[in-house]
Amino acid sequence: MHAQTIGRRGGPAEDLQAGDPRSGRLPERADVAVIGAGLIGLSVAWRLAKGGLAVAVIERGRAGDGASLAATGMLAAAAEHEPGAEALSPLCLESQRLWHPFRDELEAESGLTVDYRREGTLVIALGRDEVERLRFRHDLQRRDGLRAEWLSGPAVRAREPGLRPTVTAGLFCPEDHQVDPARVMAALRGAFRAAGGRLIEGCTVTALTREAGRVTGLETTSGPLRAGTVVLASGAWAGEGSLVPDLALPVRPLKGQSMALQMTPRSGSLSHVVWTEQVHMAPKGDGMLIVGATVEETGFDPHLTAGGLYALLEGARRALPGVEEMQVSGVWSGFRPTSDDDAPILGEALPGLVLAAGHHRNGYLLAPVTAEAVSTLILRGETLPVAAPFGLARFARTPGEPA
Ligand SMILES: Cc1cc2nc3c(=O)[nH]c(=O)nc-3n(C[C@H](O)[C@H](O)[C@H](O)COP(=O)(O)OP(=O)(O)OC[C@H]3O[C@@H](n4cnc5c(N)ncnc54)[C@H](O)[C@@H]3O)c2cc1C
Repeated sequence: MHAQTIGRRGGPAEDLQAGDPRSGRLPERADVAVIGAGLIGLSVAWRLAKGGLAVAVIERGRAGDGASLAATGMLAAAAEHEPGAEALSPLCLESQRLWHPFRDELEAESGLTVDYRREGTLVIALGRDEVERLRFRHDLQRRDGLRAEWLSGPAVRAREPGLRPTVTAGLFCPEDHQVDPARVMAALRGAFRAAGGRLIEGCTVTALTREAGRVTGLETTSGPLRAGTVVLASGAWAGEGSLVPDLALPVRPLKGQSMALQMTPRSGSLSHVVWTEQVHMAPKGDGMLIVGATVEETGFDPHLTAGGLYALLEGARRALPGVEEMQVSGVWSGFRPTSDDDAPILGEALPGLVLAAGHHRNGYLLAPVTAEAVSTLILRGETLPVAAPFGLARFARTPGEPA
């Protein structure tokens, strides 16, 4: 099971089954075959199709079924910045910058909006201990060139009057915008098809075909597909090892549970994304407040748990009393594709095989730069300098070196 969902999660409501005639037919060959129609696979595929290549995306379920429709859609380069993430910051900042043209093109070519909201993000402290930790976070953000402005408790509440008076301080991150994942996925699907791409859903890739050391295509449950290049964008499943056992990609699933609450005039609402130490709360254009997300090392166990949902509600109520009045619209889980250093793995792994995996909790933020880097590599044979540190080779260890 990819995820567990009760009620509304997001994404197009229709449920496409394997073999459904609305799914594309598997072609015999393609310039590029992409494994996985998540946000990353479709973003890369759209760019390549726009570049004039014949691109087929193979998805065993429906587009977005993996992590991509479970996400909140924050583009949070500053709010999510942590000790140890310095190396990732240039990639995050570049992608945040690329989101503007990416959004404009995506909306123009799909005819759909992605609910791009630019109110910014507040990271708040409740109580004195949290203020100290927030100051540490602010120092880190400034040291690494991320924009964040210190606010007093009253200044935070002037921006978000629904928050409790116990809010003692906050950081305002003006560049940390957000999108609606369901709308982004619908738009990518439309734009990719409009660019001539083939999306084949309900079709599982079972093996890679290789000739003389080069990856030359795929075996799937609908038959073989020859391809000049294969892109592995199978999210948390990229590390399973069944497709490329000799690579042992350091990617694992990190489960997240989230919920959607319906904001009403009685409950009050938020306009910014708000982070506390326990949860984030992201108001969407359709009146939903997404409260997320747990972080759990439970392998591919998708089940929703009482403890997980309790932690979300308790964390939200601690900052925003109005959540008590909100209707629960949906609860769900998903698997972040998490690499051993929490950064994505981009670039060629074998002749004919390119990786676009391991985006952890930053897939939405990093989608534009990933699409740019992977399409530049395949179309022009060039590595974007900002993406160069994120190849698989960084995990290689010399014998005797501690793991
Ligand atoms: C609760 C939660 C909240 C999040 N919030 C945010 C956020 O606010 N901002 C942000 O930037 N990121 C967020 N993320 C992270 C983000 O969702 C991911 O980084 C991103 O969606 C990864 O996209 P992907 O395309 O790599 O993977 P996925 O969306 O998982 O797509 C991989 C696809 O590959 C398919 N597949 C796998 N194996 C095969 C096979 N053999 N054959 C065919 N198809 C296959 C799967 O079915 C799946 O659809 C969140 C994640 C979670 C779980």
